Amino acid sequence: MREIESSVRAQRDYLTQLDSAIGDGDHGTNVTRGFASVVEALNGEKDAPPGRLLILAGRTLVSTVGGASGPLWGSALRSGGRVLGDSPTFDGQQLVEVLAAALASIKELGAAAPGDKTMVDALEPAVDKLRGEVAAGAQPAAALASAAAAAEAGMEATVPLQARKGRASYLGERSIGHQDPGATSTALILRALERAVAASS
Ligand code: ADP
Ligand code: MG
Repeated sequence: MREIESSVRAQRDYLTQLDSAIGDGDHGTNVTRGFASVVEALNGEKDAPPGRLLILAGRTLVSTVGGASGPLWGSALRSGGRVLGDSPTFDGQQLVEVLAAALASIKELGAAAPGDKTMVDALEPAVDKLRGEVAAGAQPAAALASAAAAAEAGMEATVPLQARKGRASYLGERSIGHQDPGATSTALILRALERAVAASS
């Protein structure tokens, strides 16, 4: 969560600029405020297992972010946390299950499919890649590096799409030609996860 917070903070203006083109220009501030609150909340919970931390992080995002991305990532982290329960550690296979649950939760809440120009366009290819790499025997950090690259490719592939969900969909064809802000922060989140797992393995 610290890696995510510093990454989205560093890219805050860029994320806001992307959201200004096809949304309401708050995505950078939304995720920066949200993950700053998450880091603060987790600082008081140093001994809790990872699943509990994810659930608290999700709850914090829901309660601190007004935009669509708050409830979406909030429910994602809570679902991911429930997969881990009170397990003191997690391995590559559990990581796949956490991210798969996060994706399922985002798709259920937001009803977006791949190609709708949302965060799903970055997260779904990342989860698929992670699953394949872990099944092929890759270590978690290496698998996450491939997953983050898949998220970045998915993010770039949102440019020519017309938005069918969220605020950007109000623009109709005028949403074409712009990169989706939520797919962009999602790619940052995957890279941050890769760095955190690499640093602890
Ligand atoms: P808001 O659109 O409420 O201002 P943000 O600017 O924080 O919220 O987040 C916008 C991002 O949220 C979009 O770029 C998109 O990726 C994502 N998003 C919006 N609606 C949905 C949805 N229904 N399903 C999945 N993702 C969505
Ligand atoms: Mg917005």
